[in-house]
Amino acid sequence: MRCLSEGNTAMAAEIIDGKAFAATVREKVARHVAALKADHGITPGLAVVLVGEDPASQVYVRSKGKLTIEVGMNSYEHKLPVTVSKAEIFALIDKLNMDPAVHGILVQFPVPDHLSETEIVARIDPSKDVDGLHVVNAGLLATGQKAMVSCTPLGCLMLLREQLGSLSGLDAVVIGRSNLVGKPLAQLLMRESCTVTVAHSRTRDLPDVIRRADIVVAAVGRPEMVPGDWIKEGATVIDVGINRIEAPEKGTNEDGSVKTRLVGDVHFASCVERAGAITPVPGGVGPMTIACLLANTVTACCRAKGLPEPDELTV
Ligand code: NAP
Repeated sequence: MRCLSEGNTAMAAEIIDGKAFAATVREKVARHVAALKADHGITPGLAVVLVGEDPASQVYVRSKGKLTIEVGMNSYEHKLPVTVSKAEIFALIDKLNMDPAVHGILVQFPVPDHLSETEIVARIDPSKDVDGLHVVNAGLLATGQKAMVSCTPLGCLMLLREQLGSLSGLDAVVIGRSNLVGKPLAQLLMRESCTVTVAHSRTRDLPDVIRRADIVVAAVGRPEMVPGDWIKEGATVIDVGINRIEAPEKGTNEDGSVKTRLVGDVHFASCVERAGAITPVPGGVGPMTIACLLANTVTACCRAKGLPEPDELTV
């Protein structure tokens, strides 16, 4: 699950191997899917809706479909033209809400400007909202009730529990307050009895706030924003950010453009020298997000059928 960083200095952090941990989550999902089929004749199904031709979204959707099939579930892909109307996408969501073979529905965001993400999420049956974005699920989570938990925060919490065991009493700082990551993760960490600070663009003296934290989660969208000297010695750092930056050291593409690479929201090279453990980008939180989407689909299926929920697939 974990390996020592290659820096080889005495203080270098453990690298939290999200790719390997995500593979174990998917194995557990596959075992539960096999049991649902064998014992109840049920195959969980995940429907993914893609609007338009955005290349990054196409890659995500392809990858989700492939992994859904790999764990033995049914994958239903719905590709809609960029010109699709609100009425048309609502009609599709209504159909998926009613379809007993579909246990999870995910609309790939972003959608074109003429469509509202808020209205789309609100149209999805909360019990099939495997992205955990519906206000019903946000409200259930905030009030400590059983919810569908947004996949990225769920993946972050699984990694933290695997790394640290009990989180009770720890000081956690979440940088970012989005509905997708920051807010639900803060709720989850509170539920784990952490003392949680949520930082954002108006936070005063951010370095000082972060220096007090045993757990730092960065979900900002700013390349390498958090340097090592903001990190308390031995803290656990979870980097949610995915940022593509130019990498001139890799040379140029055939069309003359500069090659790129992915970096997170923390400056890995300096943070790895201070942290106790840290997730890399890529290979940290990213793979956990898709694994948790599959886990949520199995959980949604079990709830829909009134079957016991697989505790190991949720938190
Ligand atoms: P978002 O909706 O844009 O939210 C960004 C948050 O960062 C906001 O709350 C913003 O504060 C805060 N922020 C911006 N500049 C800041 C600064 N200088 N100091 C402190 N806080 C600052 O982004 P998101 O959807 O949460 O995503 C965050 C990052 O995670 C992105 O890089 C995204 O690509 C990545 N992501 C990764 C995964 C994954 O699977 N690994 C999944 C989802 C997202 P205000 O609220 O004050 O504006």
